[in-house]
Amino acid sequence: MNKILVSACLLGQNCKYNGGNNYNEKVIDFLKDYEVIPVCPEVAGGLPIPRIPCEILDGVVINKEGESKDKEYRSGSELCLGKALEENVDLAILQSRSPSCGANRIYDGSFSGKLIEGKGVFAQLLIDNGIKVLDSEDIEDHKN
Ligand code: SF4
Repeated sequence: MNKILVSACLLGQNCKYNGGNNYNEKVIDFLKDYEVIPVCPEVAGGLPIPRIPCEILDGVVINKEGESKDKEYRSGSELCLGKALEENVDLAILQSRSPSCGANRIYDGSFSGKLIEGKGVFAQLLIDNGIKVLDSEDIEDHKN
């Protein structure tokens, strides 16, 4: 069976910065014939739930109070990359707009809600390691 790595919050796991999730029925429907490997790179990097939201500014992950969380983001992403490689996943489906998982657009680092073209730390790391990545906003209804 083909394997898909998925942002755990898309499956309903409460690992989001605010303690909630991003449950996504389209994604869950798409996954029904695949083996699912859930990961949350921020939690893997040792960050708590809930946590202060982060954005990427000039290539560095900072939280809303201006503290760098770059080390945690990068170490968590490396751990989850290890999982993806170990499981030999065929694809990753990642939560939109996250500074870790966003694959199309991310916030610009000003904490003002402005989106720019760009990728989160984890999405970029997967791509750099040859893993195909899809942003959850690109998953269409998959009815059959
Ligand atoms: S790091 Fe990714 S999996 Fe974890 S809560 Fe954020 S978007 Fe979801």
